[in-house]
Amino acid sequence: MGKYDVVIIGTGPAGLGAAFELLARRPDLALLVLDKNQFSSGGLRNDCKMNFSWPIGFPDCCWTKETAEPYLRRVEDFLEPIILEKRNLSVYARRAEKIGVSLLEIRQSHLGTDGGLELIKRLVARLEGLGAEISLGERALSLDAEARVLRTETREIAYRDLVVAPGRGGFSFLQELMSAASVGFADNAVDVGVRIETRREHYPIVSDYYDPKFLFPKKTRTFCTNSGAAHVVQEKYEEKDGSAWYSVNGHAWSVAAGAAGTSARPANGLVNFAMLKTVTLTEPLASGQDYARMLGIQAALLGGGRPIMQRVGDFRLGKRSFRERFSGDLYDFEPTLPSATPGDISLCVPAKVMRALWNAMKLLDTIVPGLLHPSTIMYYPEIKLYANRPVFRDESFMALPGLYLVGDGAGTSRGITAAWASGLRAADGILARL
Ligand SMILES: Cc1cc2nc3c(=O)[nH]c(=O)nc-3n(C[C@H](O)[C@H](O)[C@H](O)COP(=O)(O)OP(=O)(O)OC[C@H]3O[C@@H](n4cnc5c(N)ncnc54)[C@H](O)[C@@H]3O)c2cc1C
Repeated sequence: MGKYDVVIIGTGPAGLGAAFELLARRPDLALLVLDKNQFSSGGLRNDCKMNFSWPIGFPDCCWTKETAEPYLRRVEDFLEPIILEKRNLSVYARRAEKIGVSLLEIRQSHLGTDGGLELIKRLVARLEGLGAEISLGERALSLDAEARVLRTETREIAYRDLVVAPGRGGFSFLQELMSAASVGFADNAVDVGVRIETRREHYPIVSDYYDPKFLFPKKTRTFCTNSGAAHVVQEKYEEKDGSAWYSVNGHAWSVAAGAAGTSARPANGLVNFAMLKTVTLTEPLASGQDYARMLGIQAALLGGGRPIMQRVGDFRLGKRSFRERFSGDLYDFEPTLPSATPGDISLCVPAKVMRALWNAMKLLDTIVPGLLHPSTIMYYPEIKLYANRPVFRDESFMALPGLYLVGDGAGTSRGITAAWASGLRAADGILARL
């Protein structure tokens, strides 16, 4: 059986943050990093826009401003991002303030999906150079937390410390692991919303601020804006019975400057972003996750197994969208996720969520006039699933002696930089105990 000082599951930002920190401070550690995929599968790989300002990406259950900011500085020192310029923010901020909306001014960088892939390759090579063993294409299956043995598809591995960072996509793995290891958890919050796609001229703020963060009443916010060569995509969630549902998401390639051999793409003149509402459930419903899954399954039922898309023009008239009339005349651009089903999102979005989303869209249209052009598309569902939030034993996200749960999957982050920071926090805990 292989034996390591530290094993890390996941090569997303949380896993990488922990790995680099551990080896930087203790190069003698025997460290193994596993990933079921050949590349990290999360946001490093998709669009890779990084936010370097509190509170973006930091759930307030795990972080205060005072805790987060020193970690953010460490993340920034390591990643050395090129921070994007922002212009004319005071104009938008003034309009927002007048109607009870906040515009957060965030330090951001943006690599694009292709740039993110390059970054991942560089980071993995650098980590190997520091002496880490990296095993890609190896899926972790289960854990004997007492014996400190991890079982993967191909072997059993003994460890002293295990950092589990499987991301949102690994939420069911993490869930099973927590149940098997008797880690206590809470599960009550979920983000539900739509992804909006429109012409760039209907949301021109993106020329001044790449990913503008607006906070609206009723815990509703803009999230993950993409422009340039921007596309809406779908993420598949498989159920135990083999059925599946989809959540939408978005990303952008860096825009082609004409250089041969680059993977950049031509700009498509479109913008997409999510409008999300956080739903926090109270008694008697125990599982926010189950609620979110039911919403996803219901959308798949009405969308013939696919996400639903509807033009704002149809939505305002209370009419569903149809495939044969989806484009043409005022509906003057093709959807970038054409496999979505034209339909009626208000048949499946819960009324309270729909009211909050639509109210936020109207407010946003006042701040950035044009957004509610009839051609604008709303895709549903965009759901952010987090594993049940573990009960941690200390500040370093230790759930059991030798077991650290970090990143988006464990609910300790909601973005690349915060995920990296959560990995650093686990590494700090491990190093303090050595
Ligand atoms: C399409 C998309 C676009 C996004 N864009 C952005 C963005 O631009 N900016 C931003 O800040 N955030 C973005 N996000 C969110 C961002 O991806 C996450 O916040 C961040 O990646 C979380 O980091 P993580 O390390 O927790 O998980 P991840 O980055 O998801 O990494 C988890 C890794 O664990 C591996 N894994 C899972 N289960 C197992 C297992 N059982 N065994 C072995 N390996 C396993 C996965 O393959 C994956 O590589 C985006 C997310 C998506 C899905």
